Amino acid sequence: MAREKILVNLQRCTGCWSCSLGCKMVNELADDTFRIMVHTVGNGHGTDRPAGVWPNLTMDWLPVWSKQCTSCAEGKTNHGMFCVYTCPAHALACGEAAEAEAERLKEAGFTLYELPEEENSRPNVVYARPAVMPAPAEWERFDIVEAEFVEDDGAFVPTLDGTTVGELAENPRTAGLLAQYLPWLDITTPEGAMSKGMTLSALAPFTQGLLDDDTLAAIDDEFGKIAAGYFKVDETTIGELAENPVGAALLAEFLPWLDLTTEQGAMSKSMSLAAMAPFTQGLLDDDTLATIAGRLAQYAPKPVFNVAETLIGDIAENADGAAILAKHIPWLDVTTPEGAMSKGMTLAAMAPFTQGLLGDDTLAALQADFEALAAGTLGGGEEANAEEAPASEEAAAGAPAGRGKSYSIQSKIRDLEQDPMAWAVLAKYMPGFEAGSKEAKQAGSMSIKMMAKFAKDILTPEVLDQIDAELKALGGSGAVSEEAPKKKGFFARLFGK
Ligand code: SF4
Ligand code: SF4
Repeated sequence: MAREKILVNLQRCTGCWSCSLGCKMVNELADDTFRIMVHTVGNGHGTDRPAGVWPNLTMDWLPVWSKQCTSCAEGKTNHGMFCVYTCPAHALACGEAAEAEAERLKEAGFTLYELPEEENSRPNVVYARPAVMPAPAEWERFDIVEAEFVEDDGAFVPTLDGTTVGELAENPRTAGLLAQYLPWLDITTPEGAMSKGMTLSALAPFTQGLLDDDTLAAIDDEFGKIAAGYFKVDETTIGELAENPVGAALLAEFLPWLDLTTEQGAMSKSMSLAAMAPFTQGLLDDDTLATIAGRLAQYAPKPVFNVAETLIGDIAENADGAAILAKHIPWLDVTTPEGAMSKGMTLAAMAPFTQGLLGDDTLAALQADFEALAAGTLGGGEEANAEEAPASEEAAAGAPAGRGKSYSIQSKIRDLEQDPMAWAVLAKYMPGFEAGSKEAKQAGSMSIKMMAKFAKDILTPEVLDQIDAELKALGGSGAVSEEAPKKKGFFARLFGK
């Protein structure tokens, strides 16, 4: 009998063994009997030994199910597979939930794996691993093979005559279009609700001209951009590109020599751009392909995060989400063993444990950036440093001649460490806090102002003002290191206090 699939999100697994212990409890297994063993993917020498060299340590976990797993078919629990139910990090899913989750993770860039048969483990366990997750050598002993879990058909490509108003309203990418082009339509009213089962083309004749041909054409154009977000230079055929307004414009711009109406040009319709490139005698080179891929990426779907609902692990596994986390809570590093504890929590749930570091204002700022990200209006990398930039620019403007940069209480500890004069100012008020020390490294990514939250007795508001004034009077040496140190161990301090 085929066993129900279990999906394991390795990004979320914290190696807590709750799945294994839950199984033992519900199935009343003997002390030395386990149906799940949680392997540490560390340095390969003992349980919970991280890989790497301090401070660049990594540790992942791989729960492995034995063939003795019965999928809880005995009915000893009302919660389905009990291991899935007990996982506190929401790293496990089964049944339909697993299929939906696998689809979501594949869209987020995860790769799905199964253990090879030689491992003699329970079949139908699928592991999802993000591309960004570090892969210590230990991982290789599992000889992972690519799993076929679900078809990669997650694209949402709306059309005027194929997608209903209800579907458009449910999807964040098209709900905004409805509000923009059909502001008069309120599907929460009894009359409006009738449109939910209709396509826009079908609805148009009943709108007394409100949804006219020009509006439909404009919406169709927007739909074309959404479709373009799923195009890939090595997957999408040239024929598909040519039928899409964005794709057709890119073909005209970068491949003006390609005429699909000729017999020879028509042959390329079934090829992707990447497949055709070798036959173009250099006309379609790697740089051009990369430029087209970059232009298509502008339309790629943006994730929808929420501080109260989305798990930190999910946010961190997305490049844009990770950038927003780094911007607002740079002290959180989910790649450390301590930071990994937060991956199964939402930001709102974690806030009470951060001793005020993650306050309401920061949560609101995170939420604002998440919404801007989903709407495609989030700024670039410069914006990520906007909070710190004004202070240093302002200070730089008033820096004494001969010193390129200045410091303030907004400056990071790691930057001060690079300038003996700046460090001397801090050391005067914090005797014993030495540059290059373990403590300084742990606080490296914090500003003096942020560090004051942990040293309220020493860095009082008055002292902070004094340090600020002295640092600004000092100016900058211009010797500030551009190299960002690794953030390790800080979360342990938070919880350890
Ligand atoms: S599905 Fe049930 S029997 Fe199988 S490992 Fe999980 S808890 Fe144990
Ligand atoms: S996080 Fe979940 S899957 Fe990982 S060891 Fe704990 S219970 Fe098992």
